[in-house]
Amino acid sequence: MRFLTYRLHWAEQLFIKYRKHLKYIQLAMFFAFLYLVIAPLFSTRPTFDDTILTSTILLSQFLFWGLWYGACLFSVIIFGRLWCGALCPLGALSEWVGLIGLKKPLPKWVQWDGWLVILFTVVTILGQTMDVRDDAWGLAKLFLYIFSLAIIVGYLFGQHGGRPWCRYFCPIGKILGVVSRLSIINFMPNNGVKEKPASQPSYIQGRLCPTDYNLPYKNSSNNCITCGACVSDKKKAGLGIYLQKPAQEAKYILLNQPNKYEILFILISPGLAAGGFLWLILHQYQVLRDSVGGWFMAHNIFSIFNQASSFISSQAWNQHFTWFDVGLITSYMLGYGIIVGILSALLLAASAWLVVERKHNFKKAFILLTYQCIPIAILSIVIGLCGKFFEVMHHDFGLSLKIAAMIKFSLLLGSMLWSLWLTATVIFGLIRQINLRFCLSLTFILLYIAMIFYLWWPATLGHAYMSEVEKIRQHIVIPK
Ligand code: SF4
Ligand code: SF4
Repeated sequence: MRFLTYRLHWAEQLFIKYRKHLKYIQLAMFFAFLYLVIAPLFSTRPTFDDTILTSTILLSQFLFWGLWYGACLFSVIIFGRLWCGALCPLGALSEWVGLIGLKKPLPKWVQWDGWLVILFTVVTILGQTMDVRDDAWGLAKLFLYIFSLAIIVGYLFGQHGGRPWCRYFCPIGKILGVVSRLSIINFMPNNGVKEKPASQPSYIQGRLCPTDYNLPYKNSSNNCITCGACVSDKKKAGLGIYLQKPAQEAKYILLNQPNKYEILFILISPGLAAGGFLWLILHQYQVLRDSVGGWFMAHNIFSIFNQASSFISSQAWNQHFTWFDVGLITSYMLGYGIIVGILSALLLAASAWLVVERKHNFKKAFILLTYQCIPIAILSIVIGLCGKFFEVMHHDFGLSLKIAAMIKFSLLLGSMLWSLWLTATVIFGLIRQINLRFCLSLTFILLYIAMIFYLWWPATLGHAYMSEVEKIRQHIVIPK
């Protein structure tokens, strides 16, 4: 079935005309990244009076954590993964290395979709233990790890301009892939998506598409990096660029290759990411730290308080993480991820159970409802990440805290209402009337949304406890 609406010929022409020049933009982005990662290592520490215009460290932090990550995620809703196809230096580097690499066939373990969850979890936790938002060395090391892995994967498995790193491993690409289910832009076969025979795989390595789509059967956007290689100016050949309703792919997800690991990701990522903010700002974490630390001392286990390896932890002027810190931050984040994931799954399962009449439809209803939660699940992470943006806007450009809070609240509310609307539409589509079952089912969705809202409240809007270290980091107090 096709739900395409409007073909964007002008966008196709842009790709056909300018695609070969994208490498220059990617090269420029590579040097910009290199500068923003390396220059802060040799810059003097900012003082309270410094701004992003006078301090390279503050500029780098702002561009990475205030602008880039949030803008990347938001942009996917409008442009698809254009960041990946047009700008990203990491994917481009991995592709270029593949041109001179070993071109090995992809082993089965590489093609496991679960890397999405594993790598996102590892990188999110390392981001905290290495304090990539505030420790320039932490950021540099994490980028070094990720770039090295991308180069190794590209060198070993890249074939004919393929991007196995982007297809199977990149943690940023995977989160962008989930958000792309909401995108209003989609690359689809011009002759309509064909019914895929059982003999045909959904993905084939070494053809035209860098992420290995078997193009005539492409019916999902999560692995499409919007590179435009498949676009043809012949009227009825290749793929075209189409405008569709927002979240259309999520709404018809059962026809668009739902993925169990994406579902797991939607369930656990809000808790995991929120845990990464809350340990910094909630008094609860300090209480936990004191009591767990006290337990280790009472049992004479002092080695845990040794300085942790700098390969996985921040060892900056204002903090030296111990193995205890690394372990506790990791456990705290994983704990949040698992607890929020389980609660989310239970609430969505209860909602799905109420809308199905036959048991075998339960799984489909659960998948459908979970995908409708992408706006609140993922956009809440972006809003949390926007913190740096508003911090700088307030400190450097005088944006009032009230206005910043209102903008964040509006974004959070917007994502909640969007998910609520999508789930209500799906539930109505399944029940076909507004009755008690409809209301009860929607109540469980409301509980889920309220839980995510509550989770992000302190990090986005609340006046939370803030440790001395965090105040120094945020330049609220000046260290003596
Ligand atoms: S998948 Fe990752 S590495 Fe590849 S282009 Fe996208 S962000 Fe860059
Ligand atoms: S389907 Fe493949 S070739 Fe076409 S835009 Fe997407 S990633 Fe590029």
